[in-house]
Amino acid sequence: MPEVRSPKTLLRLIDESGGAFAVIEDAVEALRLQVADLKPGDPDAVQVLRHHLLAIGSPSDVAKYFSVELLCRLAPERAVSTFLEVVEQLARSPIQPDRTYPVERAMIRQLGEREVTEALPALAVLAAREVYPLSRTAARAVAKIVGSTDQDVITDRLKRDDLPEASKPQELGAGVNRALWPNRKSSSARSSQERRRRITQENAETPPDSSQTCLRPEGKAARQRRLRALLLGAGRDPSRCGNCGNPGRTQIGHLLPPLHGGSDRPGNLFAFCGPCRRRLPRGRREAFEDHAPVAVAPEEAEAQLDLFG
Ligand SMILES: [Zn+2]
Repeated sequence: MPEVRSPKTLLRLIDESGGAFAVIEDAVEALRLQVADLKPGDPDAVQVLRHHLLAIGSPSDVAKYFSVELLCRLAPERAVSTFLEVVEQLARSPIQPDRTYPVERAMIRQLGEREVTEALPALAVLAAREVYPLSRTAARAVAKIVGSTDQDVITDRLKRDDLPEASKPQELGAGVNRALWPNRKSSSARSSQERRRRITQENAETPPDSSQTCLRPEGKAARQRRLRALLLGAGRDPSRCGNCGNPGRTQIGHLLPPLHGGSDRPGNLFAFCGPCRRRLPRGRREAFEDHAPVAVAPEEAEAQLDLFG
C-alpha cells in the first residue's frame, strides 16, 4: 500500500519538482485514492487540480476529466476561475492541430453554461483563431453568454467596457461568426470539412496579436506556466535544466528575447535551473525578462543562439 500523502505534501512535491507533469499526475492519482476524505474547499487539493488542468500541453486527457469533476465539487468558484485561466492560456498559445482538446472544450462549455462574462474576450479570441473543433466550441460559448448568435450583437457586447480591454471587437465578432458557421460559404459538407482542416493547419501555430491586446495582462507566474505547457506540448521536459540536465525548479526563458522579436514557439524556449541562470553573462539574462512577444518570422525566432557566447 502506498502511504497516504496529504494534499499539502502533494502540493509541496509538485513545487519541488518545478511542476513536473509526472509528479502532478501522481498527485492527482493520490487525491483520487483519498477522495472521500477531502474537505470541501481544501486549498492544497484545489492547487493540485489547478496545476493539472493548466498543463494544457499534456496528452493525458482522461485523467483530467476527473480533475474537472473534483475541482467543481471541492470548490465551484475556484473551478470557474481555473477554467478561465485555461481558456486565456489557450488563446495565447499555439494549438496542436492534430488534437481535439476534449477536456478543454468541456471547460469551455461550462464557462458558457455558467455565463461567465469575464471569459468573453478569451473565448472570442479562441473562436476567431479558427482552429477546429476548439474554435467552434468557444464560439458557441460566446453565443451562450451573449445570448445571441448575431454578429453585431456579439461585437457590441465585446465593446462594453466591463470587459478587459476587448480591442478589435469588430474582427473578433466576425471571427466568432465564422467559427459558428464555418461551412456557410461552401457548397458541400465535404468541402467545408476540407476547408476547416486547412484553416486549422494555417492558424494553429501562432496566436493572433489580438491575444496579447484583448486578454487580461499576463502575470509572471501565469507566463511561466504557459511557457511550461508549451514545452510540454512539444514533447520536452520543462522541469529539467536544458544546460546541466538536472531535474527540479527551472525557469523558462527565450533564446531570442521577445523584446528583440523572439516568439513563444517551443523552438525559441528553454528551461534553466537557478545555478545555470546565474552563470549566464549579464547581457544574456534578458532572455528571462518578462516582455510581450511580437510576431516574427519562424526561421528568425528559431535560430539557435549560443547563450553563453
Ligand atoms: Zn542547470
